[in-house]
Amino acid sequence: MTQNIEDQKGRNGEERRPSRRSQVIAIRGGMLQMKIDKVEVFLVSTAIPNSPSDSTRTVASLGYVIVCLHTDDGLTGMGITYHEIGGAAIRSLIEKDLAGLLLGRDPLATEAIWEGIFHYIRGVGRKGLAFCALSVIDIALWDLKGKMVGLPLYKLLGGERKELPVYASGGWTSYDERQLLEELQGMVDAGYTMVKMKVGVADGKRPDLDVRRVRRVRRELGGGIGIMLDANNAFQAAAAIRLGHQLADEDILFFEEPVLADDLEGLARVRASIDIPVATGEHEYTKYGARDLVKHGAADIIQMDAARCGGVTEWQKIAALTQAWNLSLAPHCMDYIHMHLVSAAPNGLFLERLQAFEPLNELVFVDPPQPKGGILTIPDGPGLGLTLNLENVRKYNE
Ligand SMILES: [Mg+2]
Repeated sequence: MTQNIEDQKGRNGEERRPSRRSQVIAIRGGMLQMKIDKVEVFLVSTAIPNSPSDSTRTVASLGYVIVCLHTDDGLTGMGITYHEIGGAAIRSLIEKDLAGLLLGRDPLATEAIWEGIFHYIRGVGRKGLAFCALSVIDIALWDLKGKMVGLPLYKLLGGERKELPVYASGGWTSYDERQLLEELQGMVDAGYTMVKMKVGVADGKRPDLDVRRVRRVRRELGGGIGIMLDANNAFQAAAAIRLGHQLADEDILFFEEPVLADDLEGLARVRASIDIPVATGEHEYTKYGARDLVKHGAADIIQMDAARCGGVTEWQKIAALTQAWNLSLAPHCMDYIHMHLVSAAPNGLFLERLQAFEPLNELVFVDPPQPKGGILTIPDGPGLGLTLNLENVRKYNE
């Protein structure tokens, strides 16, 4: 109480007037009564030239589902999630089944809205597309929260770091060695200091070629560049362990999804057997999925993706849970969302920037943030700090 009186009266006992900033917030406070009165959903995709492959799938196109939540006082919150397939189903689920749960709601009620949708989709939404729909709605709510108080999301979440390390991701298994080296060298030339390449060539049946490719990449890029490997679920545990031992001297930052993402025992076996840190989580959902990864000792680095696993609301809980187990977070993809979350997570390592998304980002956003020297700087704007190119989004909406 004493502290409050001193705060109000100032050092010399005079009455303190509220600062202009707090007046603005107070005025905004009055506006915090706003309600969601319109939900718009867009779907925009781009073809990926030459449809590259990793060890288990070919990627022909990438798309964003974009949700705009409009309020009765004229603010709009924007969320994005992405897909290789299934974007129309995500959009349909939001438009036909979930939008009605949002209309008239207080956008600040992120926990209540999350719980409501979680139970509403329970029979079809433990993982996968339904969770992409929940995630993109939750992200739009947090963008809206930032806009309501005029703060970038990372500040709203308690973050301070504005400049975050980001690695370039590509290096597909369908590339021959020349294409692989060309792409990775191009990333380094563009200023990246960490790059990720795929392993598991020939559907994971030629680990001898993986060893050759990784050693060649290390030789060509030199010792100062961080190299990560992503097997995209290619191997069984014994093969992954063998590969990890063969590459032990190549200074690999992490070995991602060495076995099937659902094979938690296999992941734990790999992790216990090799010196390279194991990363996984892009195919896991919710705090319950994170709990299972932790319980099994499945990984050193958790890669759960806010655009899939339950949005900002759920990712923060996953951050706390993994921090309690002294594990690191390096979220999968979607650097424009994860920059805010990694900034605010004490155990957040760095961001991933998939090179295949560059054309989609240029199409969908106005002046999207670009990494420089392997660093992504969070924009100053409120919420996510992103501006949609609405003309393009409406023009290419499928
Ligand atoms: Mg991956």
